[in-house]
Amino acid sequence: MNVKTPAPLAAAPVTTHRPSRAEAEAAVRTLLLWAGDDPDREGLVDTPARVVRAYEEFFAGYDTDPVEMLARTFEETDGYDEMVLLRDIRLESHCEHHMVPIIGRAHVAYLPHKRVVGISKLARVVEAYAKRLQIQEKLTAQIANTINEVLQPKGVAVVIEAAHQCMTTRGIHKPGVSMVTSRMLGAFRDDPTTRREFLAMISMGGTAARVADEA
Ligand SMILES: [Zn+2]
Repeated sequence: MNVKTPAPLAAAPVTTHRPSRAEAEAAVRTLLLWAGDDPDREGLVDTPARVVRAYEEFFAGYDTDPVEMLARTFEETDGYDEMVLLRDIRLESHCEHHMVPIIGRAHVAYLPHKRVVGISKLARVVEAYAKRLQIQEKLTAQIANTINEVLQPKGVAVVIEAAHQCMTTRGIHKPGVSMVTSRMLGAFRDDPTTRREFLAMISMGGTAARVADEA
């Protein structure tokens, strides 16, 4: 086992002023008033506190360091150099334009080069970036880039398929539409056979075929 400390390339952003819990709750109360309701009625009295607690969950990623999560790697792999794939990782994020949910799934693969990482760590990296305000393109790139830079594998592939509630419950109102993004690095970008193998393994039917065409 090898514990490596890479450069802090993807640390959480520094906020200049973090308001107090009371200030955050007051802001929610303002939004309740803005919506046209009475924040003092029985059903809403505890809502600001609940919303602020929910925000702590939704945006827990700001207090995590994805680089550190991947820092502990294993070199005793008996020469294993085939693809490692974590498929169908549940993804819960929030759109940075409307602050409403992005719900979907992520597939993350890499081709090890000497070092592997505990498989749950891949899911944790997805979560660390998902639990922030995001756009799906950036989220996809951040996950792939961080794995690539910390593990330095022969290649990384990330595919995310997600529905954006800012499209389904407001604005254009198109339920059932999902957005697919992918980022292929190293062998997944350069070697069509490796990319095809990955897409076959995630077996997303039409999605996989579309990503193959776009890659
Ligand atoms: Zn949005």
